[in-house]
Amino acid sequence: MRKTQAGPETTGREISKPDEQWRRELTPQQFSVLRQAHTERPFTGAYVHSHQDGFYRCAGCGSKLFSSDAKFDSGTGWPSFDEPAVAETVELRPDNSLFMRRTEVVCRRCGGHLGHVFNDGPTQTGQRYCINSCSLDFEPAEPGELGES
Ligand code: FE
Repeated sequence: MRKTQAGPETTGREISKPDEQWRRELTPQQFSVLRQAHTERPFTGAYVHSHQDGFYRCAGCGSKLFSSDAKFDSGTGWPSFDEPAVAETVELRPDNSLFMRRTEVVCRRCGGHLGHVFNDGPTQTGQRYCINSCSLDFEPAEPGELGES
């Protein structure tokens, strides 16, 4: 049966940990978002207005998820990207919770909930990955690593 509630699994991932361990390793807010699929309040996250060059990694497992090159200002209050840095690092799945039909974005390696993706992006990809700041860890690029942009 297809799962309709958002919410990460704790088994079957390259990185699988029991909830108690995630709870120890993450902040309460990160646990609530990554492991319980909650959403941080808009405009509260650390990376909403960030324009620094670098990569955004999963705050749960460190997997490289998004590049600053793909980040744009969506005005929604959450960091928004028009594509993942490496397509395979994110997994998309239907989320019919809260009486909406949305597509959930999870980290493939640890199953952590990242946010949702919508088809109304303003760039060529047409995608808007709407991601919780607290599910990400920003890693500034080394000089020259990302090229001119
Ligand atoms: Fe992860």
